[in-house]
Amino acid sequence: MPELPEVEVIRRDLVDQVLGRRIQSAKITEPRLTRRRGTPHEVEAALIGRRVRALRRRGKFFIFELGQDSLVVRLGMTGQLLWSGNDDGFRPDQYTHAALVFDGRGTLYYRDIRKFGEMFILPAGSVERRLGVGVEPLDAQFTVEVLRDLCQGSARIKALLLNQRKIAGIGNIYADEALFRARVRPTRRAASLRQDEIRALRRAIRQVLEAGIRHRGSSISNYRDACGRVGRFGALHRVYHRHGQPCCRCGTLIRRIVLGQRSTHFCPTCQR
Ligand SMILES: [Zn+2]
Repeated sequence: MPELPEVEVIRRDLVDQVLGRRIQSAKITEPRLTRRRGTPHEVEAALIGRRVRALRRRGKFFIFELGQDSLVVRLGMTGQLLWSGNDDGFRPDQYTHAALVFDGRGTLYYRDIRKFGEMFILPAGSVERRLGVGVEPLDAQFTVEVLRDLCQGSARIKALLLNQRKIAGIGNIYADEALFRARVRPTRRAASLRQDEIRALRRAIRQVLEAGIRHRGSSISNYRDACGRVGRFGALHRVYHRHGQPCCRCGTLIRRIVLGQRSTHFCPTCQR
């Protein structure tokens, strides 16, 4: 599933293509895409003729600002936003469920094999409230004090990192990788973390997310950037999907457990 770094890589790819451009036509052929709000026809009508004033990211959501309204896109498990110029780029197939044509520039396709993704319109002023996602971990507001406050309560630290209402954009891969770098075991109660561990975890979260963006994402499952290219960060994972292989720090075999229905990977020696 695409997480913050993958969504950010795609956003940066797309911003040059769509910023200031007018949506000439819009076609949504899969009704499940708009299930959260409106029908495909209503979403199409809200898009046609509108100009993209900004393309932002909030957690794992893309937000195309169109003036009064915003188009929100979430990729879910297997969603892809793929750009096609007039002569090159992606060509639609049976899994392509939406197409936005930008005046004279090219077409933005939404492709999704499992159809868990979403595309809907929100009034610009209510986007923040309606999405209800927590602090952006790469923003200056994500301080040690903020993370310490979030750690109060009974949740396990891994569950806290995955809770989009608390911290935006972290999923299974980057949670496991951040906890390894911070040497914190995923099963720990968040409230049990010491001040030095909270400090290390905040730094680790930012490091893995920034490294993920720098290496253009992790191509687990079918992630591709807006030009259809794979990401390179998967080769740099230290624990995620490395169970049974030696820890890069101490040589202990990486373990895999299921925690809150999510597979979880950690080093039983380094992570306490
Ligand atoms: Zn280790």
